[in-house]
Amino acid sequence: MEDQVEEIKRKTDVVGMIGQYVSLKKLGRHHKGLCPFHSEKTPSFMVNEEMGLYKCFGCGAGGDVIKFLMEIEGVDFRDALERLAEKVGVKLVVRKFDTGGDKQKLFEVMDLAARYFHWLLTDGKSGEEARKYLEDRKINSKLIETFNLGYSISGWDNLINYLVKKKGYSEEILEKAGLVSKRNGGGYYDKFRGRIMFPLQDSGGKVVGFTGRILPSLAKEGEPKYLNSPETEIYHKGRMLYGFYQARQAIRGQKRAILVEGQMDMISSFGAGVTETVAVGGTALTTDQVELLARLATTIYLSLDADEAGTLAIKRAVELAEKRGLEIKVVQIDGGKDPDEIARKYPNRWKEMVEGAVDVYEFVLMKSLEKNNSGTVSGIKKITEEVVPFISKIENSVVKEVWTKKLSEKLGVETSVVRSEMERIKSGKNPIGRYSDLHNGETVIVDSKTDKLSRRLVGGLLICPETKRKVKLWMNKVNLPGASGKALSWILSSEETNPAKISEQAPAELRDLIEDAYMAEGEGETEEKDVLSLATQLLREIIRERRKGLIEEMKKARDVGNESKEEEFSRELSLLDREENKIMMLLG
Ligand SMILES: [Zn+2]
Repeated sequence: MEDQVEEIKRKTDVVGMIGQYVSLKKLGRHHKGLCPFHSEKTPSFMVNEEMGLYKCFGCGAGGDVIKFLMEIEGVDFRDALERLAEKVGVKLVVRKFDTGGDKQKLFEVMDLAARYFHWLLTDGKSGEEARKYLEDRKINSKLIETFNLGYSISGWDNLINYLVKKKGYSEEILEKAGLVSKRNGGGYYDKFRGRIMFPLQDSGGKVVGFTGRILPSLAKEGEPKYLNSPETEIYHKGRMLYGFYQARQAIRGQKRAILVEGQMDMISSFGAGVTETVAVGGTALTTDQVELLARLATTIYLSLDADEAGTLAIKRAVELAEKRGLEIKVVQIDGGKDPDEIARKYPNRWKEMVEGAVDVYEFVLMKSLEKNNSGTVSGIKKITEEVVPFISKIENSVVKEVWTKKLSEKLGVETSVVRSEMERIKSGKNPIGRYSDLHNGETVIVDSKTDKLSRRLVGGLLICPETKRKVKLWMNKVNLPGASGKALSWILSSEETNPAKISEQAPAELRDLIEDAYMAEGEGETEEKDVLSLATQLLREIIRERRKGLIEEMKKARDVGNESKEEEFSRELSLLDREENKIMMLLG
């Protein structure tokens, strides 16, 4: 598998592939263009053929071809790999734990079933009532095509007959696909009957499951209005969002996703022109779903039912989104029972409502103030209990402070009161939170001159590997500080001259740094003499810093009257002087 990934990356023409999405111009060592991941007027997006990498110096996006495809198409690693493999003609070896052939067959039957249902809805006489139903709900033929909607007629074995007798698939495969159920007396029957069929597509557009809505005239007591495919080998409901395949371009373009409850909400919103809409499809929002959106969007607009479950869903969404650094807004439903109804009847009002979405913290505070009386002690207690858990989840400390202030103003209490309530909640539920990790952890921001020079030298050495021997001689015995120093030592110790290979072989924690340094340095026309000059500057800087440190230590020792320590530092200082002389002679 690992080898195949490398093979596919090697065989992919990175400039050609990325060039399908971004217009690129050759510039020095790189190709340059306008970044597809943030909006900009002057290009800061670079692609490098030799390394097989892209990097945006505006927003920081960067990586290899697989990452690019994942980000731009919103697909997962496996999907991106499969697409590239197909393009370069590599046959992916199926991993051991995949049950291989079955999966392929499941995709095939789902695809055929979707086509069959679609045909029944659009061509068949039997689909007349279903067509009328959709027409009444303002779902026109264009939407029917876009979402590949269908209809399952009300018999017991129409789909079975089609897929087994006509297409030659086994009933067992249909059962595995969740399309049929076992009869008590033996044999199978169609699971979806008399329903409008909504194919559930993965991010690559493949049908993996269905949701079927019963036609009102066929509704029977005890039968669910909506029937969903069971989880199968290819369908995991927590990993997908309805409409994502159709909405992904718009989500990327608008940098936002509107999250609605059901399929109908999604399609009506899409039909009203809010094409960046997706539906959670009746489940609680999952990490995987947020991950899917986070690849393309920076803000999620929640438009979920305003009931108890809706409030819970909002809470959960906030938690997941904060972790992922996404912003959350809430669309307030007004003048209709759900997005479907509003978008269908008043498309413009729906658009306005989306634009008028409020920050989630604003929303939570507003709702709580509406519900409870902030003039009474019990009211204040209620509001605190409802709002503080939200505020304490905010990761950005400035934003958190703003909402802490707002809440205390509304309640007429000191901010310290709200803060201590926040502490109480945090310590009660999560004694070792992320915050404490942050404070105790070593998040050292290195921005020294030494660090900058080291980084540039890393890039320079990758571009002009012929300078490595000389620099290695100079840097011999010098202790290179920080992560960039580590990367530098690593490159100097490596015999490899190909930059892509160097970064591939580098320890994982240094890889990003090495690649970024290469991409940054490659922007200019770095030559051998520039690299040598960088190395000289770095050496001088390291020596200068060390001397400064030693002198300080020596002073400290003198101040406290520690003569032997003072002696020791002074000896080290003269050693440093000698070393410096040697280096300066080498540098010539
Ligand atoms: Zn960018």
